[in-house]
Amino acid sequence: MVALDESLARKCPVCSEFGTPIDSAWNLVECRSCRHVWAKDSQINNDLFESDEYASWRVTSEAIEQRQIDIAKDRIQWLGPVPAGRVLEIGCSTGEAAAEMVARGWEAWGLDLSQPAIAIGHQRHPKVQLGVGVSPDEAGFPASGYDLLMGFHVVEHIDDLDAVSALARDTLVDGGQIYLRLPNWDSWSRRVFKDRWPDNMAEHLQYFSPASMAKWLDASGFEIDRLETLGNARSWVGGLRRAVSSDWNAEETMPTTGDRSQSLIGALNRAGRPLFSIEERFDAGAELVVLATKR
Ligand SMILES: [Zn+2]
Repeated sequence: MVALDESLARKCPVCSEFGTPIDSAWNLVECRSCRHVWAKDSQINNDLFESDEYASWRVTSEAIEQRQIDIAKDRIQWLGPVPAGRVLEIGCSTGEAAAEMVARGWEAWGLDLSQPAIAIGHQRHPKVQLGVGVSPDEAGFPASGYDLLMGFHVVEHIDDLDAVSALARDTLVDGGQIYLRLPNWDSWSRRVFKDRWPDNMAEHLQYFSPASMAKWLDASGFEIDRLETLGNARSWVGGLRRAVSSDWNAEETMPTTGDRSQSLIGALNRAGRPLFSIEERFDAGAELVVLATKR
């Protein structure tokens, strides 16, 4: 009889198989079956995202606000032409993506844990219904009847994946869709930079790859419409910056983005397109993007 290793005590949040600890600064565990990676015993919880300090980086200049709008437009553009309906965004921050949906004729609701982010969103986007909370209920939104649930760089922060699937199933109409974006653990930039990959951070609790995402959505009652990865300059520039930094600290949770690095990354996003296209062909881009339909 072999004693159960303490490190195996927690099972994979995607497929319930056991995990094996991997060498990293964040106490990460990799599933032996689906290869999903998750943070074990993380001290990060919603208090961080509710704190005023965590939101303060979001609005430092007009250039950054414009960048947020551009990113939101790109994300919504990816959907292509879709008939208008009702959309709920989780982790909506200041509401730029939800506002883009309103501009396309949708009725939009946005949830975020950050009170400061929602307050800014109310000013910027009066046509979006924004509220603080983790469920529509908490914000006084309709509990169900949504045609689309979207979450951009949100699910990787959530410890309880079952709660996310339940939220998606409960809020969406039959045939409704879920649209997610999150870091791709299988990306080349992650393999090159390892711990110094910019999406490796204390507040990331889940690291999906295309395969584990497909497994999780299937188990959650969703049929995949599109699943792809997108390459970007941020993953390479951020990784290089961390790689050469002498005072880089794995515990740091406050993302910092200055105007200068924003314009540099914008230029490199264009210049690096040929490299990113190759990454994407191998499902190795830094960002995992998925659209799936509720069965
Ligand atoms: Zn698994």
